[in-house]
Amino acid sequence: KAEQGPVAPERYIEELFGQDETLERALAGIRTEGMPEISVAPGYGRLLTLLVRLSGAREVLEIGALGGYSGICLARGLPEGGRITSLELLEPYAAVARRHMTEAGFGERVDYIIGDAKESLARLEAEGRRFGFFFIDADKEGYPFYLDMALRLARPGAVIAADNVLLRGRTADPNRVGPSVVAMREFNERIATDERLDATILPAYDGLALAVVKQSE
Ligand code: SAM
Repeated sequence: KAEQGPVAPERYIEELFGQDETLERALAGIRTEGMPEISVAPGYGRLLTLLVRLSGAREVLEIGALGGYSGICLARGLPEGGRITSLELLEPYAAVARRHMTEAGFGERVDYIIGDAKESLARLEAEGRRFGFFFIDADKEGYPFYLDMALRLARPGAVIAADNVLLRGRTADPNRVGPSVVAMREFNERIATDERLDATILPAYDGLALAVVKQSE
């Protein structure tokens, strides 16, 4: 009998958890629409579901919807009656995301706000909205502003998660000085030092920043 070599860890894990037909359909939809194939990875999506569940948040704010893949994962962690608000620059992307969320059974629990997230966030603040969980996954230059706004819109104890904070190694490379890298360094420094936050950065995937807004004493 031929001896089998080791299986790559990612493949081992995905085989263990098996196919997720809802998420596979969303990925196929994103591909068919010719949208960028930059949704979070399956294991990352499972982590988002767990984080929302652990946070106990009833109101989730996502910045950067794309085709709804991470939206489905976030919504899966919500309690009954919980809602997700998702900010997306491009209307056609939000339409695809809405379709996928509806197919996943979350159509009634998501609101898409179309346009530049910076403006949408200012509007949410003016409306006095508050959220218990934030997932930041849009334009990288906006990250410091998104962190500011998350802090203003956060309930005490809210969780802030942000994707791609290592920018495939560029954030930690002193020779890189482009605007995304500079913005991401500022974001990470604030995540690490802001006294209102307990935080860490996981070097998994492309770097996942995680922070909890401290309850005021
Ligand atoms: N979170 C999605 C997922 O994993 O399924 C992927 C999001 S994708 C990496 C980034 C998204 O942010 C794109 O859909 C893009 O159109 C959107 N975006 C970029 N700049 C934005 C802005 N200024 N305001 C709102 N959305 C923006």
